[in-house]
Amino acid sequence: MAKQEDDFKRVISHAKEYGYVFQSSEIYDGLSAVYDYAQNGAELKKNIRDYWWKAMVQLNDNIVGIDAAIFMHPTTWKASGHVDAFNDPMIDNKDSKKRYRADVLVEDYVAKIEAKIEKEVAKAEKRFGDKFDKEQFLATNQRVVDYQEQAKSILSRLAKSLEKEDLADVKKLIEELEIACPMSGSKNWTDVKQFNLMFGTKLGASAESAMDLYLRPETAQGIFVNFLNVQKTSRMKIPFGIAQTGKAFRNEIVARQFIFRMREFEQMEMQFFIKPGTQMEWYETWKENRMKWHLSLGMGEDNYRFHDHEKLAHYADAAADIEFRFPFGFKELEGIHSRTDFDLGNHEKYSGKKLQYFDPETRESYVPYVLETSIGLDRMFLAVFSNSLQEEELENGTFRTVLKLPPVLAPTKAAIFPLLKKDGLPELAQEIVDDLKWDFNVLYDEKDAVGRRYRRQDANGTPFCITVDHQSLEDRTVTIRHRDSMEQERVAIADVKRIIHEQVDMKTWLQKIQ
Ligand code: ATP
Repeated sequence: MAKQEDDFKRVISHAKEYGYVFQSSEIYDGLSAVYDYAQNGAELKKNIRDYWWKAMVQLNDNIVGIDAAIFMHPTTWKASGHVDAFNDPMIDNKDSKKRYRADVLVEDYVAKIEAKIEKEVAKAEKRFGDKFDKEQFLATNQRVVDYQEQAKSILSRLAKSLEKEDLADVKKLIEELEIACPMSGSKNWTDVKQFNLMFGTKLGASAESAMDLYLRPETAQGIFVNFLNVQKTSRMKIPFGIAQTGKAFRNEIVARQFIFRMREFEQMEMQFFIKPGTQMEWYETWKENRMKWHLSLGMGEDNYRFHDHEKLAHYADAAADIEFRFPFGFKELEGIHSRTDFDLGNHEKYSGKKLQYFDPETRESYVPYVLETSIGLDRMFLAVFSNSLQEEELENGTFRTVLKLPPVLAPTKAAIFPLLKKDGLPELAQEIVDDLKWDFNVLYDEKDAVGRRYRRQDANGTPFCITVDHQSLEDRTVTIRHRDSMEQERVAIADVKRIIHEQVDMKTWLQKIQ
């Protein structure tokens, strides 16, 4: 646990030190669970967004993208169920006065059981070596089987109680498991209460005429209310999808995990409109498609897993999360939800307008079903950033900090250095910058010894460093150094663009999905 916390602290301080993420309004001591993306962070975030948009919108001729407003008519949130059901169960500790999400306290308890299982697996793997069969071990080792059953029974009781809104039983469960407040160790809990997560605000100049509004808690509703407008103007035929990226706001009860859980965050969502009855096929297809997208970034298959929901949201008939191994354990990164006709059906009811699709082949009209993929851009940022940050021991016994971002996502693709600040080397380095900047984000750096400049760019995540020396003036060649292998090669200046392009071109990366 202590190592996990240290690793996570390192991620947060590296993000600040290298201009990726700052606490919002830091000079006023910050605002809880609100963050600003700095010069490098904004680039990384934009690259992740582009990578998603290209994969979803540009490469699928049956998906189009929109950009709906954050403010929506307030009835939207009545129809979507958010006014009545977008609640989290909260509980306070009477001694420490700290507030928690009751379901998260229980889930964290289960995560500790899962950590014990992982520990047993690792021990057995070491003992049996190549002969180790993980599946068999999980099915037959009595201690591990007991742990698994314990975890399952706790989660299923939690799901049932939440489903029935039996908050007294959620408290009973916390007491039975003897869960203590992580801050104070006290087990003195209040009752569990529901808390609505939407932020309210007002539209209009005078108090009398002002209209109560909500900041959208998800981007999806902007797609639903535009469904027919988009379908008609794009002349899409079912099945087709509408995608968008944008800000969402939730008054989260507990937000202590950096950009994992924020009060203002960004989502990348796609709603896929389908014929009723076909939802299970599409559910499987999109689970597979989205996992392939993640794996294409090469961040390690072992770092992802699916988690099927026991408790379904008010709108879903099937749901799974893609979980990622964050520095604090496996947690939800993306949700894939079969939303049935819940949203469109309710918007029809509340607005009195038909939101039906006319099928030209069967000549029937119907309210489509919807399959949704929803990923938090900030969580994806944290997944990429934390997974890339590594401490490496070098051959000479020293250490280097390197941010091994997938090159396609790196904010700066190459740094160009003159070996010395004289003899015409800066001029040639600048000439290279001026040529490359039309294609990539590059930077010029002449400060400090070259070794220190390399380290700086390693920590910054820059995949290439290009050094101009005296030989460059004679034969127009430079040294190009690769961030991950630290290998250096001498290449013609004329080839530099191609070499960078081969590693950072989105096409090459996205082709792995197909
Ligand atoms: P959680 O269970 O972690 O609260 P959720 O199930 O409520 O998440 P969804 O409503 O399915 O999340 O939202 C879709 C995606 O939006 C999530 O998978 C996550 O990546 C992202 N997301 C949700 N809430 C936040 C938040 N407070 N901060 C950052 N990202 C978030």
